[in-house]
Amino acid sequence: MYNHRSTKQRRAILELFNRQEKHLAAEEVHQLVRFQLPKISLGTVYRNLEALSEQGDLQKTVFPDGKARFEGAKHEHHHHMVCLGCSNIVDISLCPVRPEMKDLLNAEEFEAVYHRFEVFGYCRDCREKKNRN
Ligand SMILES: [Zn+2]
Ligand SMILES: [Zn+2]
Ligand SMILES: [Zn+2]
Repeated sequence: MYNHRSTKQRRAILELFNRQEKHLAAEEVHQLVRFQLPKISLGTVYRNLEALSEQGDLQKTVFPDGKARFEGAKHEHHHHMVCLGCSNIVDISLCPVRPEMKDLLNAEEFEAVYHRFEVFGYCRDCREKKNRN
């Protein structure tokens, strides 16, 4: 299944995430990777992003706007600040899950796979824009 073309596509997409740490939606990845592979389709980009996430090379987060954003998996476990104005996403290194939570899950014999925590609001740029108007 790993033909030459798909390996090349995957490498190009991964290099993109190695170069920049931004959280990218599939459409953004498509626009950027087209500089290198002009013929690549959005569908192909989608499939590669999904495959790379399943392999653990990328981290996929689906935000409440229904859109998935991808980032390199080299990052430590972290959470996100999401701007409601410009959709900019910033990492939060602090995890709010307290040790008591693990005890509680253990007591329920529940095996946690992952959890999510996002803070929504307005970034500095968007607040300045709002204040100027
Ligand atoms: Zn903003
Ligand atoms: Zn992140
Ligand atoms: Zn956490």
